[in-house]
Amino acid sequence: MEIMDGRVATIHYTLTDDDGIVIDKSAPDAPLSYLHGAGNIVPGLEQALTGKQPGDTLTTEVPPELAYGPRHGQLVQQVARAAFPEGADISPGMQFEAQGDRGPLVVMVTEVGEAEVTIDGNHPLAGRTLHFAVEVADVREPTADELSHGHVHGPGGAHH
Ligand code: ZN
Repeated sequence: MEIMDGRVATIHYTLTDDDGIVIDKSAPDAPLSYLHGAGNIVPGLEQALTGKQPGDTLTTEVPPELAYGPRHGQLVQQVARAAFPEGADISPGMQFEAQGDRGPLVVMVTEVGEAEVTIDGNHPLAGRTLHFAVEVADVREPTADELSHGHVHGPGGAHH
């Protein structure tokens, strides 16, 4: 059975950056299952997987515009340190939810100065080319619930 819109695909994958550094990887005993065509994974990887079958392997290079989009300079902002709760331990790499123009946004602290803190609302992988190595483990039809919910359920219909 081949991967097409509306089917559930299960894949083993390794995601690396331009330098070959591993960014993310599925555990050997926990491959990723997703509903194809539902936007569960980045569009470029979805395109590369269309038509593949169990046992197929592939490598694909996904540009930012088919992954997490370009970086936006205006999402990097300086905030007064005084805007954070007193005594709060603010350090680079910390993530928190902020209120953006279009709703809640996860931002990351990138720099902490004496008076100002730099925060970045870009997705950590924005602007990056993603390199995927994938092996297709399984392809199946979705259950009616999965199809109507637009995502995959766990074994026995477990919801996540
Ligand atoms: Zn559901």
